[in-house]
Amino acid sequence: MSDVVLQSIVKRYDGTTAVDNVSLTIAEGELVALLGPSGCGKTTTLRMIGGFIPVTEGRILVGGRDLTQLPPNKRNMGFGFQNYALFPHMSVGENVAFGLQMRKLPKADIAAKVKIALDRVKLGHLADRLPKQLSGGQQQRVALARALVIEPDVLLLDEPLSNLDAQLRNEMKLEIRNIQQQLGITTIFVTHDQDEALSIADRVVLMRAGRIEQAGAPDDLFERPGSHFVAEFMGVTNLLAGEAAGSGRFRLKSGEVLSVPMEARSGRMALALRPERLVLDGTDEALLANTLTAEVAFVTYRGLVIDYRLVTPSGLTLIARRPSPAVGGPAPLAAGRPVRISWQPDAGVLVPV
Ligand code: ATP
Repeated sequence: MSDVVLQSIVKRYDGTTAVDNVSLTIAEGELVALLGPSGCGKTTTLRMIGGFIPVTEGRILVGGRDLTQLPPNKRNMGFGFQNYALFPHMSVGENVAFGLQMRKLPKADIAAKVKIALDRVKLGHLADRLPKQLSGGQQQRVALARALVIEPDVLLLDEPLSNLDAQLRNEMKLEIRNIQQQLGITTIFVTHDQDEALSIADRVVLMRAGRIEQAGAPDDLFERPGSHFVAEFMGVTNLLAGEAAGSGRFRLKSGEVLSVPMEARSGRMALALRPERLVLDGTDEALLANTLTAEVAFVTYRGLVIDYRLVTPSGLTLIARRPSPAVGGPAPLAAGRPVRISWQPDAGVLVPV
């Protein structure tokens, strides 16, 4: 078993607590994405798991074995970091073989394992090239082969796609997921990109200021954010402050009373509303529960969608998003035009502030 258990791990530097009492269990074969803004403690957490940074407090167990005090080379983990750090003077094959040579495997075994690892990342034909003769995406794949060749119990990846263009990122993301699932390897993947985390992970762990803010399946975090911070990080652009009455009613700071999902909670909250859920000038009865009049203040054409910044007479600003005509959406609305904004009560989620 290669489940990873973090027991109340803490990392303190002089005056800074980089990781503040993080407990997390990553199941065997699971891919967990550590997500969060810059400085929230993702890399420090990953490096403590890898043994590159000693923990200040807490324990790290893999398959029930306490590795907390072991150096990186005794943890049987594969690493892929931002800068792939391939040895420039070694060929692709030699780069991948390096970890096996350090483990003093017989030559024939090394050759066989390197071939399998390179074939897995579709680079078998480039084994004799030097890193500088490869594209960024190919170098990234060599780094992945090098991490996998040692047959690690755990794979640790820190922003492994950050140096690639959008198309390559997508391809590599699918490849990593594919290989990870084929091998059933427990993987921890650090990223600050919510889209990347949602699309690759079994579970997303969103960190904030050294702590876990929310952990759950991708759709959990996306559709059921547990806090204002999570909603904002997951791309909810409309977070309306107000007071929940506890009976499906929500009074905005600006005075309007809205229908929201029935909630036991009451008190100061924010209504999180995705811009895609706002309907402009809709006539459907079901939408009448929540209607505001506003004016289009600003229009942003984004290719597949158009974003509208809308301002109500009470000064409330909302963003609405509609498909653009390029994908069969309605004709764009001009700035300055009055609009009616509506949404169904279940379109929003109340989050604590
Ligand atoms: P990024 O996405 O920018 O890499 P991160 O979430 O990975 O950010 P960390 O690199 O883990 O964040 O850093 C967490 C916090 O710890 C930050 O406030 C950082 O400044 C601090 N920190 C990291 N390393 C050290 C160090 N060696 N000495 C002091 N403080 C540090």
